[in-house]
Amino acid sequence: MFRLIRYFSITSLAAFVIVTIILGVFYRQLAINDLIVLGENNNVALTQTFANSLWPDFEQFVMNASDLSPEQLAESPEIDQLRMDVLTQMNGLSIVKIKVYNLDGLTVFSTDPTQIGQDKSTNAGFLSARSGQVATELTHRDSFSAFEGIIENRDVISSYVPILSKGIIKGVFEVYDDVTPLLLLIQETQRNVIIGVTLMLGILYAVLFFIVRHGDRIIQQQRRERERVEEALRLARDEALAALHFKQQILANVSHDARTPITVITLYTEMLQNHLYGPVNDKQRNALDSIHVSTRQLLFFFTTLLDEAQLNAGKVVLRDTEFVPSDLLKNLEASIKPMADKKALALNTSAAGLPDTLRGDPDRLEQILLNLVYNAIKFTDSGTINVKLYLSDEHHWALSVSDTGIGIAPEMHERIFEAFWQVDGSTTRSSATGVGLGLSIIKQLAELMNGKVSVQSELGQGSTFIVTLPLSGKNVSDES
Ligand code: ADP
Repeated sequence: MFRLIRYFSITSLAAFVIVTIILGVFYRQLAINDLIVLGENNNVALTQTFANSLWPDFEQFVMNASDLSPEQLAESPEIDQLRMDVLTQMNGLSIVKIKVYNLDGLTVFSTDPTQIGQDKSTNAGFLSARSGQVATELTHRDSFSAFEGIIENRDVISSYVPILSKGIIKGVFEVYDDVTPLLLLIQETQRNVIIGVTLMLGILYAVLFFIVRHGDRIIQQQRRERERVEEALRLARDEALAALHFKQQILANVSHDARTPITVITLYTEMLQNHLYGPVNDKQRNALDSIHVSTRQLLFFFTTLLDEAQLNAGKVVLRDTEFVPSDLLKNLEASIKPMADKKALALNTSAAGLPDTLRGDPDRLEQILLNLVYNAIKFTDSGTINVKLYLSDEHHWALSVSDTGIGIAPEMHERIFEAFWQVDGSTTRSSATGVGLGLSIIKQLAELMNGKVSVQSELGQGSTFIVTLPLSGKNVSDES
């Protein structure tokens, strides 16, 4: 499960640590840069002071120093004088060492006497200063020879500064400024900055944490609510499916079980009609005829219900056998012609362009035809009913039933194929003429045969129902 708080904690902690480190480093870098600039300015100012106050007295000595050997130089009385003057000038400052070079790079003077006479002519800092550029660097020294002797563990800013006299570079001054206390101050400030930033970010983190935790709780709650709704929907769906299954089972059981006693009633009625239980008078015959018609209707009704229930449950298995198409028409005429005659309707049947034999379930095809023609007779008062079997295209054959009856409004064309639906009652209206299952069963049977059923009709213009079915491979190849 996605944990918002965990995600927030990890990312924000990482972000805060990075921000703190960047700020700390950034601050230190800025402060040290400032320190170097400041140190350099101080060193330049000091050099200027030196040039103004001491240079006039020592210029000659510095200029002629190249003529002396290092030993002679070290023993010159000017050196002692210079040292005393320099020490007086540097008193109270943080300067720890001073050197003076002539333009040849010779160390003419150093507060560390051992360095007097050394050659610095190739030193980058010296060369830079001799060309007029101040060169400054900050270094850490583990040990350092200062005025007062060896000092340890110091941070020192050293600058090579040109000595200018009347605008001309006359020599180079090297100044070492001890900035250890300043660096300690920077470190302390840096620590305070980090502590301050950490505190601020900590407070920010705490505020955000409570906001995120609140949001996380809302999300968790919503998720549980979503899950609860899903569970409820799943339960409702399962219950609905169970109820549907139960209904279908009852429908199937009732229609199946009802057919047996109805068949028995029909049989006994026929035996009575055939005088097997003795002679019947006219009144009794009329009553028996009525019983016979009603029980036939009842049997048809339950057979239709059973079909619908079995189709719904996917329990109808079609036969796959060879049959002669024209036989369908013969059987149809035998069973329904009397009904058409009774309403004085002409019943025309024809089969054209079909193979001699087709494959399929002839009983179910007969059922489809019978239902369509039965409807046509039912909804037609006068005129003709045409039944045709024909080849609809290369791969399909079709059966169509047309009538000159009341017709069906186009907006009803889809709904009439729904179970228990009739145009006039709009919903189920059980009557002797039907329950609204015929077309639903036809549609399901046609689809089971990989075919389809369609209707063409207008109100008052009659109707044509067409069932299109695939030709079986055998028959097609027989023909070709
Ligand atoms: P039933 O015929 O039992 O009512 P069907 O499913 O066979 O049920 O038909 C559904 C409805 O479609 C019928 O009630 C009728 O309104 C309409 N219908 C079907 N066939 C025709 C037809 N040939 N002419 C006009 N209406 C029809």
